[in-house]
Amino acid sequence: MTVFARREPLLVRPGARFDCVGDGLCCSDIHAVGALSDEDCEMLSLISDDAIDRHEGEDAAVLMMRSDTGRCVFWSEQGCAIHSRLGPEMKPTPCIQFPYALTATPAGGRISTQHRCTCRTLGPLPLVTAEDARSNLLDSNGELKPEHAVLDEVAWSGIESLSFADYAAREAALISALIEGKGLMTVLEAQPFPKLEGITWSAVVDELLEFRGPSRAGAAARWFGSAIGFLVDRREPTALDRPWADSFEQAGARVVDPVSPNRVFGDWLADDVWSMRWSRFGSLARARVELATRLAIARRIAGWLDISTPKQDNISAAEAVMIVDVIGTTDIWEKAQEAIPEP
Ligand code: SF4
Repeated sequence: MTVFARREPLLVRPGARFDCVGDGLCCSDIHAVGALSDEDCEMLSLISDDAIDRHEGEDAAVLMMRSDTGRCVFWSEQGCAIHSRLGPEMKPTPCIQFPYALTATPAGGRISTQHRCTCRTLGPLPLVTAEDARSNLLDSNGELKPEHAVLDEVAWSGIESLSFADYAAREAALISALIEGKGLMTVLEAQPFPKLEGITWSAVVDELLEFRGPSRAGAAARWFGSAIGFLVDRREPTALDRPWADSFEQAGARVVDPVSPNRVFGDWLADDVWSMRWSRFGSLARARVELATRLAIARRIAGWLDISTPKQDNISAAEAVMIVDVIGTTDIWEKAQEAIPEP
């Protein structure tokens, strides 16, 4: 019997939390806000002549960021101008959807969240509910729009495939251990920085450090590249700036009961596993190696940031997670991900 990927019922990862409190980091050039659909571009071109940007060599249109503030042209201290003047439903689709993403599976639509905004990673936040997330996951026709689909055969490892139901039962134990945040490398059962096929870690570092330009994404790439260079080649990092420090310190004021860095890392890892985006690259065993590598990078970055108090330690872990979440979707990292061999 053929089992199809379904969008309904909507399924929430246990323990996922989010509330947009307007920190605005997601409206900044820490990541490109896109890809914009044709409808988004049509609507934006009615509002402004300078709303859309197209990065060299890429087809996708993204929102234009201001070079002086590093934020979207519609952002101000008062928040999003489209949201306040025209209504939240008039915002471009990626803004409506952020930080949610949907993966269609044989059991229903899995709602996952990205960890590149302080409204997802810092302070006391309410649990995500399917009801709250639903309106953010609809396309312009009012249909649930999955980014990714998984069928009824999931590669647990290079030599073992499971039905989706069997996979989900095994995965539940993994996700709850990750959320608990204890012994994360042991829970992942993987070693970071395997020997890559066809490229070297040093070449990945060079490419990341060359990721130039004034944007915050460029700064994130330099932190990420410096951490790999230090962990793999013992290369000392050059001076690293934090253009998003204001956002994190401001959001950090909400933290009244700091959680340990491992809880912040585990929450991010659990979402990454739950999203199943990793299945594009191979088995879960391979994804565990990739996640172990990014975890090692996140820990190195967090250690270079301020860890003087439990609160600063919590803020630094969230900042490190933002960096590894953003860089994890870049072409440079996807190339490295493809070069990780099946364990
Ligand atoms: S359009 Fe509005 S919500 Fe989207 S990035 Fe710009 S300011 Fe943020």
